[in-house]
Amino acid sequence: MKMPPVSHSGLSKFETCPRQYYLTKVAKTVVEPATVHTDWGNVVHKALEDRIMRGTPLPEGMDQYEPIVLKLLGKRATVAAEQKLALTRNMEETYWDDPDAWVRAILDVVVDGGKSVYLADWKTGKVKYDHDQLDMCSLIYMAARPEVQKVKSSYIWLKFGKVTTDEMRREDTPKAWEKLIGRIAKLEEAYETDVWLPKTSGLCRGWCPAGRANCPHWEPKRQ
Ligand code: SF4
Repeated sequence: MKMPPVSHSGLSKFETCPRQYYLTKVAKTVVEPATVHTDWGNVVHKALEDRIMRGTPLPEGMDQYEPIVLKLLGKRATVAAEQKLALTRNMEETYWDDPDAWVRAILDVVVDGGKSVYLADWKTGKVKYDHDQLDMCSLIYMAARPEVQKVKSSYIWLKFGKVTTDEMRREDTPKAWEKLIGRIAKLEEAYETDVWLPKTSGLCRGWCPAGRANCPHWEPKRQ
């Protein structure tokens, strides 16, 4: 089975539990229920994209994000939102739906300052301190734009008014790619062998959508 283009969310889901990944993304026999949080996240992303790209005023209830947008638009650089990037296995940029696309990322905000670029990712949930997604976006961006020497990136935690940042320089990329390629190889192996092992965690206690019918490790939520 051919592996589809790898995104950060897909890779992270696979690493959380290959079995759950298989059920929801490969066999698609289990549908993940939409939550209020994911729906709100989609609405916020669209409103911020429209504000940045088209100047559409933010809707009621999102006015508090306006100063953040103004700060981004005030930078002396081109600002873009929801930029889609795809790379082939040879690290060449390609179009999003290319059957040869190998990795892909949607960049919520790109402030293109030439050799030095700033990427931002809107977050509507609780603050977390990992920067895995930012690293993957920075790697893909630098592969697609050979002139870029440094990427500063941030998660913007909208609900908490907090920003957490990361930085990657061109000289850091070979090592970071080596690590990422090793992770992607495991996903690829699962597609090739069609082996999707369960990986138990707290999710098994009713949070995973698999249900007992699809996984013997699934248990109902504790009351
Ligand atoms: S119940 Fe646990 S082990 Fe089973 S698919 Fe879900 S997360 Fe994986």
